[in-house]
Amino acid sequence: MPKLLNLLLTVEHGMKKPVWDCTMCGQCVLHSTGMTCPMTCPKTLRNGPCGGVREDGHCEVKPEMRCVWVKAYDRKVSLPLPTVWKEHYNDLRPPVDMQLKGTSSWVNLITKRDQQTPAGWAKRQEETHSH
Ligand code: SF4
Repeated sequence: MPKLLNLLLTVEHGMKKPVWDCTMCGQCVLHSTGMTCPMTCPKTLRNGPCGGVREDGHCEVKPEMRCVWVKAYDRKVSLPLPTVWKEHYNDLRPPVDMQLKGTSSWVNLITKRDQQTPAGWAKRQEETHSH
């Protein structure tokens, strides 16, 4: 089994690194972010842009770089993605679980390990949805 897990890890990284500069966060959300990796944001924000986006749509930390969330929105609108993926764009994504760094998000998706959230997160979501 460890050999299979290692193989999946190698294949996932081999495919995603060149295309999305994937750093293997282990909890992939590409489908909901217009196929734009939020971990490439210098602040690794997973729920939209910070308040520092420049007028030209570039990043306040790396002025030479287009804001990941400006790019994500543009791609969400323009790419022929499944409607359900586009709808997930507005989801409130939980904080990054750093314990998953370096693991395969495919394996974590199958085992549902990527759905484990910090204590209190479910309560917070209930509160958010009830307002
Ligand atoms: S969200 Fe995580 S797994 Fe997905 S491409 Fe970005 S770093 Fe890789």
